[in-house]
Amino acid sequence: MTRQPWRVAVVGGGIAGLAAAVRLRDRAPAGTEITVYEQSGALGGKLRTGELAGQPVEFGAESFLMRDPTGAESAAVALARRLGLAERIVHPTVGQAALVVDGGLRPIPGGTLVGVPGDLDRVATVARPAADADTDGGRPLVGPDEDVSVGALVRSRFGDEVVDRLVDPMLGGVYAGRADDLSLVTTMPALARTARVEHTLVGAVRAAQAAAPRVPGAPVFGTLVGGLSTLVEAAVTASGATVRRDAAVRELTATGTGWRLTVGPTRDPELVDVDAVVLAVPARPAARLLAGAAPAVAAGVGALDYASVALVTMALPQPRLPELSGFLVPSTEGLLIKAATFFTTKWGHLRRPDGLAVVRASVGRYGEESQLQRPDADLAATVHRELSAVLGTPLPAPVDGHVQRWGGALPQYAPGHADRLAAARTALRAAHPTVALAGAGYDGVGIPVCVRSGETAAEEIITALGGSAR
Ligand SMILES: Cc1cc2nc3c(=O)[nH]c(=O)nc-3n(C[C@H](O)[C@H](O)[C@H](O)COP(=O)(O)OP(=O)(O)OC[C@H]3O[C@@H](n4cnc5c(N)ncnc54)[C@H](O)[C@@H]3O)c2cc1C
Repeated sequence: MTRQPWRVAVVGGGIAGLAAAVRLRDRAPAGTEITVYEQSGALGGKLRTGELAGQPVEFGAESFLMRDPTGAESAAVALARRLGLAERIVHPTVGQAALVVDGGLRPIPGGTLVGVPGDLDRVATVARPAADADTDGGRPLVGPDEDVSVGALVRSRFGDEVVDRLVDPMLGGVYAGRADDLSLVTTMPALARTARVEHTLVGAVRAAQAAAPRVPGAPVFGTLVGGLSTLVEAAVTASGATVRRDAAVRELTATGTGWRLTVGPTRDPELVDVDAVVLAVPARPAARLLAGAAPAVAAGVGALDYASVALVTMALPQPRLPELSGFLVPSTEGLLIKAATFFTTKWGHLRRPDGLAVVRASVGRYGEESQLQRPDADLAATVHRELSAVLGTPLPAPVDGHVQRWGGALPQYAPGHADRLAAARTALRAAHPTVALAGAGYDGVGIPVCVRSGETAAEEIITALGGSAR
């Protein structure tokens, strides 16, 4: 067992890194010195609660899934509970969202898995499935070790319209990417499992739905009163970690007994020796940091590409909005907006007596980064114009607004990602068990998955240092 107290560095102060820090505090030996290094001036990464018109508004992630794919409480809910925030969890008051189809709004049909229907009749209002393409060919849809893109699978069974009008905008709402580029195994693991058994896509969707039945009336999403930054602040406090803001870790060198971190500006670097490292940064900085100690792992990890997005939020005085949580826009509609959320309609706790509405639009799709070169005012004006057109009514001028740019923020898990990652992790564990990877670059993009990956990384470090998880 490593000499005590252990010194563990958590590199990256996003939710994955902070979840790792909390888990280390809970399960590593008492007295373990935990330091979180965050390159920016603020913790939370993609969780950032700002303020607009005097009210907290999410400038990054907005909500989390309440359940994990098995139906159990999600890791985000469990973390909120651990941090004493369970009482703050609230759910959308309006859950119905719409799709833009031929310039107008149509309700998103229910009963799909991220847009992939288990009942073709139910999606007929927005897309015509290809006739009789989903026939039983006498073998499972996907081979035992195979990964395909979601788009390729769904196109081959249901035709283009179901992908272009339903699956693509729904996956794009999460990843800002294209269904044709995204891995089935990583972005839709439940469907990937059943597609290895079932002979039709309808059968695979139904089997996936049956494996994790939804409890009628149980909320799917939650957020926290006061904003998701309250989760970040509570995690920092509970971890008891030393927090170093504006402290980029630029190099990671194996010392034989642990790791040497090079922190801060090149002109005036600080060298810090630790016993173990949780690397909770996006894939590219992780690859740069691993390049010296584990070049093959770095190459595997660094292959992941990212999409950039911008979020345009505006406070509108008493606009006429439909009773919807928001809408998604298929790329075939030719709009800049990818998705819009009517915050003050969707979340009852955000409704205002003065009727001021907060609307947020997301712009930017993978491969269309040039659109994000426009100045803030141009993006905001285009969003305002497009929102008015989709809603069929001119919206009032905003009384407040904010443009948040998230460069290289959303991982684009290509087919084969899970295998590449498994190989990289196995190699890293074998060569350097005192470094563990965590965060959205690996197992999935959602907050619960990132929390879980941070917690798992913390437990790997505890095992590697020779402790037993308390
Ligand atoms: C616009 C947007 C909306 C989203 N909405 C939702 C949502 O509603 N629900 C949901 O579940 N998920 C959502 N997501 C996804 C989710 O928020 C993220 O996947 C998750 O927060 C990522 O957490 P993380 O800790 O892995 O990484 P990050 O949040 O990226 O944190 C990594 C941190 O590492 C720091 N860092 C990087 N390099 C270094 C270095 N060398 N040294 C020190 N620090 C470094 C970064 O500054 C950053 O703070 C959204 C994502 C985006 C971009």
